[in-house]
Amino acid sequence: MNYIGGSWAALEATLRNFLRPVVTESRPSKPARPPESRSERYRASFALTTDEHAQGTCIGCKMCENICPSGVITVTAGPKIESKATGKKRGSAADFVLDLQGCIFCEMCVQVCPEDSIVMRRVQQAPTYSREGLVLTMERLYANEKALPATWGNGTVLREAQEPKRGEAPPAPAAEAAPKAAAPVAEATPKAAPDAPTGGTT
Ligand code: SF4
Ligand code: SF4
Repeated sequence: MNYIGGSWAALEATLRNFLRPVVTESRPSKPARPPESRSERYRASFALTTDEHAQGTCIGCKMCENICPSGVITVTAGPKIESKATGKKRGSAADFVLDLQGCIFCEMCVQVCPEDSIVMRRVQQAPTYSREGLVLTMERLYANEKALPATWGNGTVLREAQEPKRGEAPPAPAAEAAPKAAAPVAEATPKAAPDAPTGGTT
């Protein structure tokens, strides 16, 4: 009897859902929602940035790799190169890989980047049937800079929003409430002296 009741409940739920309007998006058969419909803080993918001379801004410092709680970033530091923007020598990245499969989209890599080099994008990568399809190589990350719309933040913006600022002392805790005045203690009545032993064995 229980089996029949359970089967009927499952069938009822199936029929009910069958008649409801579809609320999920079928991808990749249908195009993704336009990026304008997403919040500017929507975090979906990543990009590496270039400067005004089309030179990659990553200096290969590995701060993003070191802070990533999922361990999905691998940076290979490159040789010192001359920055076209400043004319000074600076570090570079020979290779950069971010494996989206383990990413929890915490944005910590973006927050620590001193060059605003690693940033996030608010449109997902195209769906893929292979694990390799979710591995963002350096080439794909640079391509994403132009191909996918940016989120609102980069390292500078996120650190500015931080309170207290990095290196600043945290605010002092609120003064503790003064302790309540101790209630007067009633004078203790001296205990009656214990009765002297009235007898005993000798
Ligand atoms: S968003 Fe978080 S988990 Fe993803 S790569 Fe950056 S630091 Fe790692
Ligand atoms: S992306 Fe930023 S934090 Fe990561 S290695 Fe490059 S410069 Fe350093």
